[in-house]
Amino acid sequence: MDTIAEQYVKLVLALGQHDADYVDAYYGPPEWKKAAESSKSDPARIESSAVELVSALAGEREPADEMQRLRLHYLQRQLSALVARVRMLKGAKLSFDDESRALYDAVAPTLPESHFQEILDRLADRFPGSGPLVDRYDAFRRNFVVPREKLDAVFQRAIQACRERTVRHMTLPADERFTVEYVTGKSWSGYNWYQGGFRSLIQVNTDLPVYIDRAVDLACHEGYPGHHVYNALLEKHLVKDRGWVEFTVYPLFSPQSLIAEGTANFGIEVAFPGRERVDFERTVLFPAAGLDASRAGEYYDVQAMVEQLAYAGNEAARRYINGRIDAAEATRWLERYALMPRDRAAQRVRFFDQYRSYVINYNLGKDMVRRFIESRGGTPDKPAKRWEEFEKLISSPRLPSGLE
Ligand SMILES: [Zn+2]
Repeated sequence: MDTIAEQYVKLVLALGQHDADYVDAYYGPPEWKKAAESSKSDPARIESSAVELVSALAGEREPADEMQRLRLHYLQRQLSALVARVRMLKGAKLSFDDESRALYDAVAPTLPESHFQEILDRLADRFPGSGPLVDRYDAFRRNFVVPREKLDAVFQRAIQACRERTVRHMTLPADERFTVEYVTGKSWSGYNWYQGGFRSLIQVNTDLPVYIDRAVDLACHEGYPGHHVYNALLEKHLVKDRGWVEFTVYPLFSPQSLIAEGTANFGIEVAFPGRERVDFERTVLFPAAGLDASRAGEYYDVQAMVEQLAYAGNEAARRYINGRIDAAEATRWLERYALMPRDRAAQRVRFFDQYRSYVINYNLGKDMVRRFIESRGGTPDKPAKRWEEFEKLISSPRLPSGLE
């Protein structure tokens, strides 16, 4: 399997030459990257090599050891996702659901407008008045914008709290750390670039107003116990301890992303269970941002309702990718059903253009991770067990289909 793992890494690097977003992280041998850059294998060759590796792996005996078995299935599934991605680059047209199954090993449920309308009706009662609901909600939310000059201080406080909570429950590599940069002109709101050696670069996009809830969301999601910890634990347990070279590369359009995004989002609830989040916001972050702390409870009650619209973004993306609606209609759909103001909705449609069915990894991924961890006893009333199962999941090569 080590030989196939090495060939897999080289194929991911080769495909990265044709797809700028594909290789999200790489910290394996630098000469492999140089070789990929200089040889520039064509997509057809990458595809046939990957197909060969998939059939070679199909001939492998099922290992008795669970981690070895997870490794075998992981390599098989990551490689078939690579084949699907090459075919897409060669012009293959997949429906949204076929694409997410091929790339992320999962399909998001299809929900009708009526599902979202019920939630919107409750929000309309909360924000009575005339005009579109999104405008009324947005007017409320504008009271909770973090002033640009306070953003870094607020974000650093959130990172510190997320880290403290994480290290209370899991052992991180001694010299792990990350740096934070503020950027503009991106289709995403935050990004973790893992650099190997237990280091990350986290970028926060300031194109649009940053609301107070983004501080903990981003600190947990990109940092602790999210992407930074996930990548550091994979490097520690799988690359350094076991010598599994396939984890030195992270192909973005692959099943690994559902686990990465799902655990990063679920990690927010693991780090701040129940009322702990709003207590922390009221006592620490709202004052640091200069916001009225007496309104923290009210704000998070509304956010909990809006959170129920999470799957509306998937619906917009599915219709858009399937060609049923155009970019302008997708923007309007997000305004109406996901309550995104016009500029945020437009940014999200640019994200659909760049990342397509990747969107399911956030909300479906989070729900799948939650069900998996709770099915193993990590229920909200057992926080220690919840952390333990969370750590096990982010230290292993489990696939989305293996969460069920
Ligand atoms: Zn993420």
